Amino acid sequence: MSTQEHLQFYIDGQWVPPAVPRTLDVINPSTEEVAARISMGSAADVDAAVAAARRAFDGFSQTTRDERLALLDKVLAVYMRRIDEVAQTISLEMGAPLWLSRAAQATVGAGHLKQTLQVLREFEFESVRGTTGIVHEPVGVVGMITPWNWPINQIMCKVAPALAAGCTMVLKPSEIAPLNAILVAEILHEAGVPAGVFNLVNGDGPSVGEAMSVHPGIDMMTFTGSTRAGIAVAKASADTVKRVTQELGGKSANIVLDDADIEKAVTQGVNACFTNSGQSCNAPTRMFVPRALHARAVAAAKAAAEGMKVGDALADTGAMHMGPVVSEAQFRKIQGLIEAGIAEGATLVAGGTGRPEGLARGYFVRPTVFADVRNDMTIAREEIFGPVLVILPYDTEEEAIAQANDTPYGLSGYVQSGSLERARRVASRLRTGMVHLNGAGPDFGAPFGGYKQSGTGREWGEHGFKEYLEVKAVMGYQPKQKAAA
Ligand code: NAD
Repeated sequence: MSTQEHLQFYIDGQWVPPAVPRTLDVINPSTEEVAARISMGSAADVDAAVAAARRAFDGFSQTTRDERLALLDKVLAVYMRRIDEVAQTISLEMGAPLWLSRAAQATVGAGHLKQTLQVLREFEFESVRGTTGIVHEPVGVVGMITPWNWPINQIMCKVAPALAAGCTMVLKPSEIAPLNAILVAEILHEAGVPAGVFNLVNGDGPSVGEAMSVHPGIDMMTFTGSTRAGIAVAKASADTVKRVTQELGGKSANIVLDDADIEKAVTQGVNACFTNSGQSCNAPTRMFVPRALHARAVAAAKAAAEGMKVGDALADTGAMHMGPVVSEAQFRKIQGLIEAGIAEGATLVAGGTGRPEGLARGYFVRPTVFADVRNDMTIAREEIFGPVLVILPYDTEEEAIAQANDTPYGLSGYVQSGSLERARRVASRLRTGMVHLNGAGPDFGAPFGGYKQSGTGREWGEHGFKEYLEVKAVMGYQPKQKAAA
């Protein structure tokens, strides 16, 4: 495949060269070949993008709900026309298999646009309390920093509500998977988003991300990525007292209760953990099973992991295969953590270090399962972000809940039970922003986000939309009602 050059940034409605030329290769993780080349921005590009966003804010913040509904409708129409290109691009640059890119990675972008349209149609921007008006207004210029693992999901769940609210924005996508963001800029341009409302600057965290976080012209930072980088963004944003929302890492527990259909629950849990090669912030990576059922759980997990096909992300196999992990750095990190699991005495049930058989190139990891894991082992504590599941036996429900909560993270929880009432009771004890009962999938209208070190604020649906709004109290908004005679 020929190398694509995407050396310009989208600022003020135009494609412009970077202030200082510096390039980065985008690697196809299935082949380790260079797929594209982008420019890496600097503080001067951020300045230009923020200036454009500030100029555009005066007009865009005053648009009506109907105008923004019409605009988002157009964005959705153009997005749907180019959705397969989006899916192909994601598979090329971050390695999600094409079936997953088509079924989920690209379609969630449309899901957020549709959900946002519905929220915008129904949202009450103004209400009255006594004589005071309570008015919701756009927060201003929003800086957006996104990761590579569900790239369009993370971009669209920020861009769609920001547009709906009347905000203007500067996006810095992950430098590892930046090509889908370039498509987003093209789509928004074609849909008629006014110049300056959406701006795209590529680059890395320490230069462009930091320049955005400290910029006095940005009112809010919305960040998705690792806890380490999220803390850096929050600290850098503090001097200008920005609103900061953070969607960070996770080490989510999947509690299989003793009344669950054990084989079914375990197989579903393995597949959920390995989706997207294990590179989901909310992946159920720690599976808690009753000690008496540990052997059956291990056998089911081994069968599921060994049945998983691994191969080129862009191969249209018709099967639900697993692609590579995103980069050489991630590949090496995961290999190191698998080694740590073995060294700390966990039982390796499936997979292990090295590439899967027959795959000499590409960042392919063997679908790996560890059993007899203790919650204090490195593989139970660190976010691995690869296809590595750990199974932890427990003796009592109380112990399972305590260990599930014994992590700095609090993104998702999973509970499997034959009794919905029991599952709900366990869910109420989990210190996480989301809980999935018996394999229930995501809901675009539901708030997405974490407790503890998994983040602050919420995305998706009405809760996500409100993050992009300021609230103004207008005293004397209406006259005092005369008491009835
Ligand atoms: P990362 O934190 O390395 O990078 C994410 C983004 O932050 C990138 O755009 C990067 O350039 C930027 N960045 C890095 N350092 C920065 C700094 N000092 N200042 C400003 N920006 C900086 O994470 P990643 O490897 O791209 O993504 C994986 C991580 O993201 C995992 O920890 C995962 O759990 C998390 N994640 C969380 C959610 C969620 O919603 N909670 C969703 C997806 C991914």
